[in-house]
Parts: sequence; C-alpha cells; structure tokens
Amino acid sequence: MKICIVGGVAGGASAATRLRRLSEDADIVLFEKGDYISYANCGLPYYIGGAIQEKDALLVTKPDLLRNRFRIDVRTENEVLAIHRAEKELQVKNLRTGEVYTESYDKLILSPGAEPKRPPLPGIDLDGVFTLRTVTDMERIDAYLKGRSASRAVVVGGGFIGVEMAENLQRRGLDVTIVEFADQVVASLDPEMAQILHRHLTEHGVSLRLKTGLAGIAQVDTGLQVELSDGSAIESDLVLLSIGVSPENKLAKEAGLHLGVGNSIAVSASYQTSDPNIYAVGDAIGVTHLVSGKETLVPLAGPANKQGRLAAENALGGHQAAQPVQGSSVLKAFDLTAASTGLNEKQAKALGLSYRKTYIHPQSHASYYPGATPISMKMLFDGNGAILGAQAVGYEGVEKRIDVLATAIRLHGTVYDLEELELCYAPPFSSAKDPVNMLGFTAANILKGDMPVYYAEDIPGLSPEGTTRLDVSTPAEFGMSTIPGYQNIPLDELRGRLSELDPNKPVYVTCRVGLRGYLATRILKQHGFDAYNLSGGMKTYQLAR
Ligand code: FAD
Repeated sequence: MKICIVGGVAGGASAATRLRRLSEDADIVLFEKGDYISYANCGLPYYIGGAIQEKDALLVTKPDLLRNRFRIDVRTENEVLAIHRAEKELQVKNLRTGEVYTESYDKLILSPGAEPKRPPLPGIDLDGVFTLRTVTDMERIDAYLKGRSASRAVVVGGGFIGVEMAENLQRRGLDVTIVEFADQVVASLDPEMAQILHRHLTEHGVSLRLKTGLAGIAQVDTGLQVELSDGSAIESDLVLLSIGVSPENKLAKEAGLHLGVGNSIAVSASYQTSDPNIYAVGDAIGVTHLVSGKETLVPLAGPANKQGRLAAENALGGHQAAQPVQGSSVLKAFDLTAASTGLNEKQAKALGLSYRKTYIHPQSHASYYPGATPISMKMLFDGNGAILGAQAVGYEGVEKRIDVLATAIRLHGTVYDLEELELCYAPPFSSAKDPVNMLGFTAANILKGDMPVYYAEDIPGLSPEGTTRLDVSTPAEFGMSTIPGYQNIPLDELRGRLSELDPNKPVYVTCRVGLRGYLATRILKQHGFDAYNLSGGMKTYQLAR
C-alpha cells in the first residue's frame, strides 16, 4: 500500500509516523512545500522574543530522522499542485529544481493546514507587513528587525498569535499596539474575563485599540502609517497581521472534494473526505464540537496531531471514529495565563442554549503558604449539571484547573462530579478544597437552590424601591468601593441587624468575591428572606462594567 501525505507539520507528520508504527510494509511519501517539516509553530513567537534562542529547538523532528528511523520518503520543498482522483495520482512540483512530476497513491492524507488571512486592503503587501505561520515567516520577521532600528510595532488582531506576538515584540524592545476589531482580545474568553488580560497588557506597556479595524497601510518617510477604521493612524516600523486563519482548501476544492463549514474540507466520521481514498485532518477540516454538536473550525495543534494518528490507522483499513473537539486552549501574556475549554457564554447565547453560570476568584494555593495568587474562574453548566465550558485567568495553576475541567467535560462529568473530585493537595500547590471543587460547590448550590444568584448584568434592572441591596463587606472595604445604591451591613453583624431589612423585599447581596455574600444569603434565607448572591461579587462586577 502506498500512502501519500500532503503537509509535513502537525497532522501530516503525526500521520506519517503512526503509519509506520502500524505498518512496516507501507510506502509512505510525505510532501511539504516549505523548507522544514514537523516544526513547532506554537514556539515561533518565542524565538522572536528571545525566550527560544536556537532555531533548531523549534525543529521537532528533522527529515533525516523520519527517513532513517521511520523509513518515510520525506520531500520538503515539494508542493503538491493537483490531485487527479480518477488516476489516483498527484502532480507535484519540486520547488528546488522547478521539475513537475507525477506520483501515484493508493490512499492520500491531506493535512495542508490553514493560512493567515490577508485582507485586500491598500498597502497590505508593503515591506514590513508580515504574517506568522512558518519558520520561514519567523526568520523574515527576525531578519527585518535585525536589519533596522525598529522601535514600533502594530499587531492587527488580538487573538492568541496576536497577543503572544505583542508580548514577544515588546520583549524585543518595540512599542507595541494591538488593533482589534472586537471589543475584547482572545475571543475564546468572555468579555469580562478578557478584561483581566486587557489590564495586564496595558500595565505591561502594550497599547490596546479595541473596536478598531485596519483600513490600510501607507509608506511614509518615517516608516509605515497604519490607517484605522476610526480615521486615526498609527506610525509603525512593523505590522503583524494576525486576524485569523482560513482552511487551506485549494487542492481539495480543485479536486472536487466536498467542502464544509467555513470552506473547510468536509470529512466523515472516519476523517474520509468525499473521496473514500482521501482522508483529511488538522486545521483544514471542519470538526464537530463536543459540547454543541455543531460543525465548526478549531485550528489547534492538539486536535491536528490526534486526528493525524487516527486518519493514519483508517487509511490502513482501521475504523477509528473522528473525535469531537472542545477547543481547550491556553495563552501566556507576560505573567498572566488565560485558558478555556468548551463553550463560552457568547457561544452558548448564539446557540440559544439554556445555561447557568458561576464565577469564583479563589487563590491558586492555600493562602497561608507564600506566593498564592488569585485565579478568576467562570463555568457554564446546564440545568442537569452538565458542564458546558470553563474559563480561567490568573498567574499560577490556571491551566491545570482548565485541564481538569476539560477532562470532566470529555468524560461527560457534571458539576456534582466536580464537588467530589479528589485532586492533589499540599499547601504549595492547592487547597484542600481545590478551585475546581469550589466551582462544583457553587454550581451545585445554584442548582439545588441553596444559593440563588444574580449577575453583574442584572444590577441595572434592580428596582431601587422594590429591592434591598446589601454589601456585606467590612466598612473599610465598603468605603473603598461598592455598587451604587448598596447599603453596608458587615457579614459578622448581619444576624444582629436583620430587623433593619424589609422582610417583604428581595435582598440582593454582594461582597468582594462572592464567598461572604454566599454566607449572608444562607443566613437571610434561613430567616425567611428572599435573598440572592452576586456571583463572583464586586470583583466580577468591576470586570463586567
Ligand atoms: P500545519 O501545521 O500548518 O501544516 C500544514 C503544512 O502543509 C504546512 O507546513 C504547509 O506548508 C503544508 N502544505 C500546504 N499545502 C501544501 C501542498 N499543496 N503541498 C505541500 N505542502 C503543503 N496551536 C495550539 O494548540 N497551541 C498553540 O500555542 C499554538 N500556537 C501557534 C502559534 C503560531 C504562530 C501558529 C502559526 C500556530 C499556532 N497554533 C497553536 C496552531 C497549530 O500550529 C496548528 O493548529 C497546527 O499546526 C495545525 O496542523 P496542520 O497539520 O493542520 O497544519
């Protein structure tokens, strides 16, 4: 059996090595139009910032290793130009020599990835305007920066690559502005969670221009002039376009393969395209979302690698089912970590799902052990307790909590399971009730009616006459900040001052992060009040404003 693979990085290289592990007999040919195979795209920003110093460190597997250890016929700088499905042949161009030749296949695996979007705007092709996808792109940016005294950069698009590049260009000594069309960076987070990132980026000297699009770029004497949708302009020496990616569908489309969501290559439940001899994986394909069940695009390295393994097995006659994807992702922005899995609230709303949510702001580990830092967490769940998605932003232990939640979602766990999870604990690492347990406790309390909650967005709708609004923080905390219209009764005085509250009015309680508000809500409820706790307390309220 002869199996050809198009694309030699995440999905393609995984498929190639898996094929060899499963079959000593297969002829495996790997085509990669670029100079390198199996490189770490995810590490490219860190080379530009200097955290990774050697380019070789990014080249995970070199062609010779694939040739010698795996007996794979690796052809870098060979671009597959066309698939002739009837003949089961590929037309390939050797980019070194210019020779165009034909290669036959029995089975074909496509993993051509996704290409950065380049909007057709004036000046988009000027010298100094870059996208970042490959080692070659990274080398171009590096050489450009070494070749001049660049001091300013504009990053267009505040997604993962944009934020990572903003940090790394800043570490390289440039003044960086992120221009983002939406009202927040990192779309996988909800806006109030992204606020934490906004503050952190700004504190680290990155300028944010939200709700602003790119209108064009012009060459001026002093560099590049980046023209924005609001009519203003920023001068810069370098522009990085990181406004998203589009599935590489050219080969598939020209070969008449069916396309699906977002013009991705459509695949069956076994990664087969509309041609049973051709499989496709990675950023180029549409996937089923684990939580929503909808077709979507999830261009991430983890899914691409795993899909490559499964498609390889199927190409050899196996029956591995395509796996739904949940979009677990993590981002470092200077000292901050932001991670998420499953659906966020924007997505849940857009899908018309009925959901509940809880916010907590625990410490990363026992607060008495030095160095604990806050984590802000948000979790969505449904009326049966099924976990729909979670987000966390903080300094330490963020991604391990999201990884636990991602596992719980994958195994169809509920908020009641989170209450019972027995997770590692010693003071330097966690608390006896881990933040993941706390999410379970708060969510279960909401569902069981033990802690009726309201949210920051409900506050403008609370009637001043028809409700009591109560901040149970200490007087000192109350003096520093509260929500307009709230009166102060500190939690520890509440039992003795219940007579000050009108028993006929619902009581909307808050505190700093929601814990004392919960305790107050329990006291009030047991004394016959209709009481609600602000989920996440003042901290979430301030983020949501
Ligand atoms: P790719 O890895 O892009 O490989 C496709 C290859 O196919 C390319 O090398 C291309 O040259 C080749 N090719 C295309 N067409 C042809 C053709 N006709 N002939 C021959 N070769 C062809 N994901 C994460 O999960 N976490 C991260 O932190 C993260 N960081 C990232 C940072 C950057 C800067 C970038 C660019 C991506 C990042 N990603 C990250 C995304 C991740 O790299 C991709 O999801 C993953 O590489 C997709 O794998 P793939 O095999 O589908 O495509």
